[in-house]
Amino acid sequence: MRFSTRAIHAGQDPDPVTGSVTVPVYLTSTYQQPGPGKEGKYVYSRTANPTRTALEECLASLEAGRHGLAFSSGMAATTTILLSLKQGDHVIAGDDIYGGTYRLFEQVLRNYGLQFTYVNPENPDNVEKAIRKNTQLVWIETPTNPLMRIVDIRQISKISKKAHALLVVDNTFMSPYLQNPLEHGADIVVHSTTKYLGGHSDLIGGATITKDVDVQSRLKYLQNAVGAVPGPLDCYLVLRGIKTLAVRMDRHNENTRTVSEFLAKQPKVEKVNYPGLPDHPQRSIIKRQMKGNGGMLSFQLRGGFNQCKKLLERLSVFTVAESLGGVESLIEHPASMTHASVPRDRRLKLGISDNLIRVSVGIEDVEDLVQDLNRGFKAL
Ligand SMILES: *Cc1c(COP(=O)(O)O)cnc(C)c1O
Repeated sequence: MRFSTRAIHAGQDPDPVTGSVTVPVYLTSTYQQPGPGKEGKYVYSRTANPTRTALEECLASLEAGRHGLAFSSGMAATTTILLSLKQGDHVIAGDDIYGGTYRLFEQVLRNYGLQFTYVNPENPDNVEKAIRKNTQLVWIETPTNPLMRIVDIRQISKISKKAHALLVVDNTFMSPYLQNPLEHGADIVVHSTTKYLGGHSDLIGGATITKDVDVQSRLKYLQNAVGAVPGPLDCYLVLRGIKTLAVRMDRHNENTRTVSEFLAKQPKVEKVNYPGLPDHPQRSIIKRQMKGNGGMLSFQLRGGFNQCKKLLERLSVFTVAESLGGVESLIEHPASMTHASVPRDRRLKLGISDNLIRVSVGIEDVEDLVQDLNRGFKAL
């Protein structure tokens, strides 16, 4: 079956007892057992819950994997993956990964004896050079946040395999509709389902997907041991969001292209970061691993922070807010918002300048989005 059909049906057969077409929300913590020493299919909802199972099967199908796990947040999924390592193990991560992931690695997990090296994975040689005997995990995002740099999943996977390290790809920015890292050699895909999968900015959730049964058993064991599981209502909401993922992403793709073209024409815009730019230097990688350019872009505005502030304060359709991937358009200033906790030196070194603006283009009528931006730019 094709993508949209799987999004609507995978793991979601009508309920055998009632015929309910929609997956029921199983609000139960525990399940009746056949007898002492005999286990039913479900025992306790930290371990498994039927609404969650439906979501996990659907996610596995959409990512071209075999096994999915749903978590209470993207960070809970990430934490659980990292807990499969032990003291002294080494991780190589992209140098502009999601700020919360960087904070978890540096401020929390380093205290437990894990080692982290950050490199720019746009050049795979940097990853190869950072490999050590104890490297167990390579962690990348593509496109990166907020500069929309593209990382070649296939190249990084070759390097990871040679080093017997697992490659994890955080696929939140693309969603499974636009990119399936497992098909390009990744071992684990991680998602913040808070973003495109949920799609309506009304929940927090996370997921892992893999093809490897051993990786899955380890993560499943840890998920139950650690306990960062989502409730059945949140699972239901993600499933409901997923049903429209394909149509939403098509519209995100279209709207973002139009917005990028508008921005590229503005004399006050210094540079647009968007995978769909016609002269993008990484065109061949984009073509191989992405089925669309997605709903995210960033741009540099001439004039620094004050100009950014002026623009953002003039907009009325775009909401000034962190997060991304919902139906509504959001705009933010990374240096003072999403990336404010990154020390200024490190931030500037990464290219996250004070005049950078990040946009999550929603699925409103694009004419209204362009009109709103046009009004904002006129005020500069
Ligand atoms: C939001 C986000 C996360 C964290 O997910 P939460 O659901 O907020 O815990 C991880 N990675 C990326 C790329 C994100 O955008």
